[in-house]
Amino acid sequence: MHRRCRLEGKVAIITGGASGIGACTARLFVKHGARVVVADIQDDLGSALCAELGGPGAASYVRCDVTEEADVAGAVDHAVALFGKLDVMFNNAGVVGAMASSLRESTKADFERVLAVNLTGPFLGIKHAARVMGRGGCIVSTSSLASAVGGAASHAYTASKRGLVGLTENAAAELGRRGIRVNCVAPAGVVTPLAVAISAGNGVDEEAIEANIEAAANLKGVGLKADDIAAAVLFLASDDGRYVSGQNLLVDGGISVVTNAFGFFRD
Ligand code: NAD
Repeated sequence: MHRRCRLEGKVAIITGGASGIGACTARLFVKHGARVVVADIQDDLGSALCAELGGPGAASYVRCDVTEEADVAGAVDHAVALFGKLDVMFNNAGVVGAMASSLRESTKADFERVLAVNLTGPFLGIKHAARVMGRGGCIVSTSSLASAVGGAASHAYTASKRGLVGLTENAAAELGRRGIRVNCVAPAGVVTPLAVAISAGNGVDEEAIEANIEAAANLKGVGLKADDIAAAVLFLASDDGRYVSGQNLLVDGGISVVTNAFGFFRD
């Protein structure tokens, strides 16, 4: 049992829960007493994680492509059938898409694919979670630093994540009337398979990715980890965040709101 169980008796779905930030959050949620449905398209990873987390009584894997409404509805119904209710929906599945570094290289097909996973996916997650949540409940989606500043990712990724913030605010307006909170968590760079995919084209390994993130960071010598994002999601999902809604919680060490381009501060 964890020091202080902040999700005791709660039921959560985590999309993109088989890997990276989602898997880390699944582990933390279970430590804090939640029962978790891991929804992903990586069946082997998702099933292995659920076995590690204690099997059917604590965690259950369901195949769910978040771009398919029937899959998302099915994952939500699976959580209710297995665990009796849904308290927390974490819309975390995401893709970076093709690494186009100019508008000229960007294709319509890739733009639409990134929006389908990163924006339509959370829309479906919010819609179906709200269908089964009674009064109260909490929905969190993973946006990005790219939702707050331009130039941090591709056009498609940036548009999808900023769109997600708008969707979150709108859903908070509707669902607040039922006591349901809707928020985003916005990570800066974290070394996960997704971050590796971004850098793969440049032939960069994990250590180099970490070094690049550290070089770009505002907060030096700390190092953002997936655990830090999971901790922010736990705050939003638990009663600690009971009056927080419509927010995009940036876990970025301040990089989205500072500039040292003027060289004002020196040691
Ligand atoms: P990850 O690749 O480890 O995890 C993403 C998961 O989403 C994978 O398990 C993948 O199988 C799943 N997924 C992809 N498409 C899916 C679909 N159509 N249906 C269901 N599942 C699908 O990467 P991560 O870094 O943990 O990413 C999690 C979230 O964090 C994403 O939304 C990403 O955009 C966001 N994010 C990551 C970073 C970072 O630096 N890693 C920064 C900002 C935001």
